[in-house]
Amino acid sequence: MNETTSNNISVDFIRNMIIEDNASDRFGGDVHTRFPPEPNGYLHIGHAKSICLNFGIARDFNGACNLRMDDTNPVKEEVEYIESIVADVKWLGFDWQDRFYFASDYFQKLYESAVTLIKKGKAFVCDLSADEMRAHRGSLTEPGKESPFRGRSVEENLALFEKMKNGEFKEGERTLRAKIDMASANIHMRDPVIYRIMHTEHHRTGKTWCIYPMYDFAHCISDSIEKITHSICTLEFEIHRPLYDWILDELELYHPQQIEFARLNLNYTVMSKRRLLELVRGGHVSGWDDPRMPTIAGLRRRGYTPEAIRNFCSVIGVTKFNSFTDIALLEHCLRDDLNKRSMRAMGVLNPLKVVIENYPDDQVEELDAINNPEDPAMGSRKVPFSKELYIDKEDFREVPPPKYFRLAPGKEVRLRYGYFVTCKDVIKNAEGEVVELRCTYDPHTKGGSSPDGRTVKGTIHWVSAKYAIDAEIRLYDRLFTCEDPSCDESREYTEFLNKDSLSIIGNAKLEPSLASAIPGVPYQLERVGYFCVDLKDSKKDNLVLNRTISLKDSWAKIQKAGK
Ligand code: ATP
Ligand code: MG
Repeated sequence: MNETTSNNISVDFIRNMIIEDNASDRFGGDVHTRFPPEPNGYLHIGHAKSICLNFGIARDFNGACNLRMDDTNPVKEEVEYIESIVADVKWLGFDWQDRFYFASDYFQKLYESAVTLIKKGKAFVCDLSADEMRAHRGSLTEPGKESPFRGRSVEENLALFEKMKNGEFKEGERTLRAKIDMASANIHMRDPVIYRIMHTEHHRTGKTWCIYPMYDFAHCISDSIEKITHSICTLEFEIHRPLYDWILDELELYHPQQIEFARLNLNYTVMSKRRLLELVRGGHVSGWDDPRMPTIAGLRRRGYTPEAIRNFCSVIGVTKFNSFTDIALLEHCLRDDLNKRSMRAMGVLNPLKVVIENYPDDQVEELDAINNPEDPAMGSRKVPFSKELYIDKEDFREVPPPKYFRLAPGKEVRLRYGYFVTCKDVIKNAEGEVVELRCTYDPHTKGGSSPDGRTVKGTIHWVSAKYAIDAEIRLYDRLFTCEDPSCDESREYTEFLNKDSLSIIGNAKLEPSLASAIPGVPYQLERVGYFCVDLKDSKKDNLVLNRTISLKDSWAKIQKAGK
């Protein structure tokens, strides 16, 4: 757990470094971060960790955080992804104000920086193919071999780089490489490629460029241009930091501090954009926003709230050690938030008809139901009660096991917010299946208590058959059957897809108030779980609800067991 300072900032090791930098006046007290996604896919919950960290630091230190599209690879990037990223960061509750940037805006400046390096004798045009370059690179234990083109003169390099820029070479024919040290223990310092030829149009710069900067070259200079103070990235970039520093030092540019932290890994899912794209393209899910996906768009459609995600990111904290986080913790944060804020309603997933024989045929009563027992300010609503109702099949047993307090022949239960009812008769179809219960009610038990002090142990939910609305319910389970689908190199992670991750209930019955539910906003169907109207597929006359999450909190159970 992180410490907390007197002004209530939860202090992780990154914030501690910033506090030290502020104390020594290293950046003149400025704190300027950025969130730099590559628009080659939708954002996922791992990105949320980075977003909360970067924007959270800016907030805590009265600084600023930029949103920057790291759009240096036109082959994989699409405008759809940019739009989704913008929507997702906003939805998470963060504001970059007018600081929305694109690395592609810096292409000219990046090109000029490359020319500067060439002029300093610190970069050269190389004719080696990708395969040859790999063969020259060496290994962790052996130094690399210098390229035969390393000794080219500055003039020749300038002329060749110009030709690269002018489209005079084919893709892969030439690269521009930094001239550092082929014997370096750090492979990233062995004359890394900084520019490559790609005859691909860019979604923003069109046909202007056919050479594109590599990530390591573009990123540090983009940070420098934007006067970022703390460039926060995930651990795998630690080994790139010497290159980040080398480029800015050689170019004598303003120099941000790169800081690395451990990425979020969640069990029972995959988080690399490449894999998520494969799940979409392979038809394993309905799209990037499939409610089973760990994407922000998927979580939103599932009914996750920004508050729950932000709280999760704050609970997991920031460390330097890679580990797995239990998805049950994310679900716990969601339940915690929904329990406090969501409206309650009644809904029956597996309807079983109940006829109250002694209830007047045409009578309808509007019963008072509490909207949220956790928050009296949310008030109450009316729920119609009538002679024919539905209860859940689960709440009736013809032969009840011991300690079964729900409905059974001759047994009395409380209908939530309604009356005590007693089961008098069971009607079956030709197959012997129970299709209807005949019950009587006690008119003196309205609201759920008896004036004669009689009590019942079981309370079950119900809906009026006449006023219920029909809905399709989509129940979701984990997308993968194993904790780490990528653990076994001999097997495809798709082999671990959970075939039962989606099951559909076609004929659920809901209380009428749900007709006006706002899509995407979860309700607690009492005793059943949290559900929200689907943002995409639900229609007025064809209601579709997603199960956001069940009620059972496995994280709380794990915590208890650990104590
Ligand atoms: P992926 O591996 O999923 O393709 P990426 O790192 O290539 O992700 P970017 O778009 O480059 O994706 O990520 C933008 C920012 O989000 C980067 O700063 C990156 O370090 C951070 N980030 C990505 N994945 C995670 C994660 N799982 N946990 C924390 N931060 C992450
Ligand atoms: Mg990346």
